[in-house]
Amino acid sequence: MKARQSIYLFFLLAFINGCAVSVNVNNEDIDKPISNEFQKQSLLGILYAQTSTEFIANNMQTFAAASAHLDESIFDSSWTAALEQINNFNDKPPAIILDVDETVLDNSAFQARTIINGLSYPNGWIDWGNEARAPAVAGVADFLKEAESKGVKIFYVTNRVAELEDATRKNLEDLGLPLDKDRDVLMMKGESGWASDKTSRRALIAEDYRIIMIVGDQLSDFLPRQETALAPEERKMLAYKYRNMWGSKWFMITNSMYGGWEASIYDFNYPDNENTATKLRMENLQP
Ligand SMILES: [Mg+2]
Repeated sequence: MKARQSIYLFFLLAFINGCAVSVNVNNEDIDKPISNEFQKQSLLGILYAQTSTEFIANNMQTFAAASAHLDESIFDSSWTAALEQINNFNDKPPAIILDVDETVLDNSAFQARTIINGLSYPNGWIDWGNEARAPAVAGVADFLKEAESKGVKIFYVTNRVAELEDATRKNLEDLGLPLDKDRDVLMMKGESGWASDKTSRRALIAEDYRIIMIVGDQLSDFLPRQETALAPEERKMLAYKYRNMWGSKWFMITNSMYGGWEASIYDFNYPDNENTATKLRMENLQP
């Protein structure tokens, strides 16, 4: 999403600066509808999330695997899923950490709007969040209800901005998902000084709980952000490095729409224009 954010901001700044930067925008262009040609590059990725039965089956499969490991992970006091959890955790009560966007809540409707409007994140994102009507990812609700019934604490660690906390809480509650009130279980970016890296939030939870599973759609939902900032081929090696985690302690939801995999194509330095982004995308094809 950040590439599109940068591109959007670039054009916005160009507009604010009276179009004095290198983009040639004249008064006639301002009245023209915004082209969605660049956003259309995401079309099939978004349709996969919105129309495919395969995606639903895959998510059900993921949460079924998590469910199958619940009892073992609860009763084995040496079991931990968090790299931040190093010692003295055997007697702590069990907890599961989930990311929110594209792990628990399905924001593909927002992504669909970006294609229709030709404008993407952050344009319209806060409005979408405040609508609080993102559906649940297939399989997550049954899994979380089962975990909660077995005494597992559920934490949501999200990089949604703190401004969206109330709406996110409403969205999760309306879907009937566990959301305890005895402590803060919905940990937003920007809240309590938390940055994008989720390591400190996992470490904080690990002080009081034994983290038995982590569910996310990004490598950085499991690992320190810096460790995941690699070129695509090196980054793939992380899947192998942590091969013992997947499917028992770590559960990855497919995100074909956006994420660190896209940032990796740009060497984590998002292009400020659509042509460069398109060129780098093409260069990363492997014929
Ligand atoms: Mg996510």
